[in-house]
Amino acid sequence: MLLTITNTQSPARDFGFLLHKHPDRVQKFSLSFGDCHVFFPEATDERCAVALLLDVNSVDMARGKQRQNTPRYVNDRPFVASSFLSTAISQVFGSALNGHCQHKPEWVDAELPLEATLHVLPVKGGEDFLRKIFEPLGYQVEVTGRLLDEQFPAWGASHYFEIKLRNRLPLARLLSHLYVLIPVFDNQKHYFVGPDEFDKLLAKGASWLKDHPAQETIVKRYLKFQPSLARQAIAQLNEQDTIATEEPTDSKSTLEQKVEKQIGLHGQRLNLVSQRIAESGAASVIDLGCGEGKLVRRLMKVTAIRQIVAMDVAIRSLEIASSRLRIDELPSFQADRVKLIHGSLMYRDARFKGFDAAALVEVIEHLDQARLSAMERVVFEFARPKRVFVTTPNREYNVMWESLPAGNFRHPDHRFEWTRGEFSAWATSICERFGYAVEIEPVGEEAPEVGAPTQMAVFQCQ
Ligand code: SAH
Repeated sequence: MLLTITNTQSPARDFGFLLHKHPDRVQKFSLSFGDCHVFFPEATDERCAVALLLDVNSVDMARGKQRQNTPRYVNDRPFVASSFLSTAISQVFGSALNGHCQHKPEWVDAELPLEATLHVLPVKGGEDFLRKIFEPLGYQVEVTGRLLDEQFPAWGASHYFEIKLRNRLPLARLLSHLYVLIPVFDNQKHYFVGPDEFDKLLAKGASWLKDHPAQETIVKRYLKFQPSLARQAIAQLNEQDTIATEEPTDSKSTLEQKVEKQIGLHGQRLNLVSQRIAESGAASVIDLGCGEGKLVRRLMKVTAIRQIVAMDVAIRSLEIASSRLRIDELPSFQADRVKLIHGSLMYRDARFKGFDAAALVEVIEHLDQARLSAMERVVFEFARPKRVFVTTPNREYNVMWESLPAGNFRHPDHRFEWTRGEFSAWATSICERFGYAVEIEPVGEEAPEVGAPTQMAVFQCQ
């Protein structure tokens, strides 16, 4: 089995430092299941490609060394990318995978133009599934199918694919994606899946899996459908994203709700957003970060809206939304109108495209400021709804609450709260970068000097 990774960032040969491998040498590593050869088919200052060729010893596997889950002698293991390749990546490119590089530290976090080719990947689920897994991570995916047997084309396609993945990202991140995702495509795993695997999954995947729309599928497949391990892993991944666990409870005791209840602010905000969406004449709306579906409930009453899609990263929120909106019991004309989907604002997603209106009600302040730019591109560049309704707290108003000393946020999970000036500057920069016009409107009763408790921006695509 063969994996190649090409770097075109000049001076490209320095890629060798990152990999801790000399571009002019061929190296061999003996692993428990076979030999691994590392060499550089190309190594110029413009392009540098490393190849990892894994020669699995299927005879050894079939004799003596056989373990419970080990496949039999005649099988595809020596030829296809599988969990053996993940193990090889971690053993042979361990330092690169963990982001260590003494000689070229500035390249560790650099977003390099990389292309990885997996020459034979067995994929149950075909090209669509491949795209569903890699595209949300920002990869451009090129898939070449393979016939079952080239001499007998009538036998049709096999489930083996050659895939090329192109992206600008740090090498460690690319390797962590491959390490976790290669075994996801394959039903077999060459070792027993236990708590150890669970730890590896979290160690290598936590930072990007928590926002991946196919998180559940990836975790279940990686852990080879061991439901209790998968459940624990999903819970742990989402726990790290406190939003996912704290928001959906809707218990009246959460700090934000307690504070805002005094003025019924959340209801006012949702009423205003749904009213403005209705006035805009939208026939299709996507609620991004829909929480428990409170906006959806209001939008369902607007008959001119024929399609409502509600998306959230937290599965638990979607479950609550589904039961509160009684999605399973809706008459068929309503059921066709409303759809709840699991997704993330961090990754571009074709399902977000083509809407008249998108709403982000009290969502942006839950995103790390460093990740706002990902959301901006996902919403304003890729999904590109005709109108976008964004609400967020006005920090200046916080002095109005005795229980909330100025400077503190309204909710422990808020990553930031903006003044009116900051929000307006952000909105203007969105318009300049993505070709929208904006109007900002206060939400809730305005106080002298500090303004209204919430601020809403309505963006219109130009
Ligand atoms: N809009 C809802 C919920 C607001 S709470 C309402 O007004 O009632 C913020 C919501 O954003 C939570 O449900 C949280 O799960 C969701 N969220 C946070 N980060 C997200 C992301 N990256 N992608 C999608 N949703 C996200």
